[in-house]
Amino acid sequence: MDRAAFIISIDTEMAWGLVHRPDREYRYDSERPDLRRLLTLFDTYDIPATWAVVGHLMLDGCEAIDGVKHPEIVRPSYEWFDGDWFDEDPCSNLDDAPTWYAADLIDEIRSATTAHEIGSHGFSHMIIGDPGCSRETFASELRAAIAAADARGIALRSLIYPRNQIGHQDVLDEHGIIAYRGSRPRTPGTTLWQRLADRLVGSERTAVLPIPEGPRWNLPATIMFDVDSRRLSWRLWVRQVERRLEQAVARRSLFHLWFHPDNLRDNTEVAFAALERLCRAAAVHRDRSDLDVVTMGDLADQLTSATTRS
Ligand SMILES: [Zn+2]
Ligand SMILES: [Zn+2]
Repeated sequence: MDRAAFIISIDTEMAWGLVHRPDREYRYDSERPDLRRLLTLFDTYDIPATWAVVGHLMLDGCEAIDGVKHPEIVRPSYEWFDGDWFDEDPCSNLDDAPTWYAADLIDEIRSATTAHEIGSHGFSHMIIGDPGCSRETFASELRAAIAAADARGIALRSLIYPRNQIGHQDVLDEHGIIAYRGSRPRTPGTTLWQRLADRLVGSERTAVLPIPEGPRWNLPATIMFDVDSRRLSWRLWVRQVERRLEQAVARRSLFHLWFHPDNLRDNTEVAFAALERLCRAAAVHRDRSDLDVVTMGDLADQLTSATTRS
């Protein structure tokens, strides 16, 4: 790349993220205030993010047709899931079921001063890379997400695979999706010393680069922003995250930070303080012209036009 790139992608799913995981409990009360606070923070530093939204959240409401919820979706058949994929869908509306519909949040993201991207996180958080999700099933899920976005005048260009389980990438090409977030590439044969050195300075070999895959771009994750998973004090922890940003600047590589609004819930003040430090550091590099702060769709466009030129 000519210059380092910084992407923030946010998996925005509300009730859909955990509805098929009865083992995990989720509280939704903080999701809207946290999301608004994020928008204010991003506006302060003019940092655009890619909001990967579950398509169902874009609906004003829904209802069963002849007793079937979302008959347009070809059902998956997962070994780990019994019942109908839409059993828990309340078939209601934003006022009565605000964790299943969130057009208000989409409007707020779009009316922010900063030009964010609205991407896709599927229509119903289907696990696409699982063998129980056929190509046909994913195509129906993606078509429904595109239709829900289209009804709001949004053209989807990027996709984050639910639970990062990647599959059926050719379906993306048929539906105008030009970028997805891949897993962070592994660096094989790394010794303990190399790992330590990498943590301190960010070596060349662990720098993350976009991967061209024919018409689309895999923009791999660099790090998940999860304050709760840290074993260090938050200042030391955020310093490690900042080093990944510095590594990208030094190596002209990609720093792709991602999280769910849920990751900000338990240690909210620490999480926002850490994010603010990162945004400030990124803004300084951007103003020195050694970093592009971009959305997934914009980076894919830039990379494609650079490849076509050369
Ligand atoms: Zn529904
Ligand atoms: Zn998700």
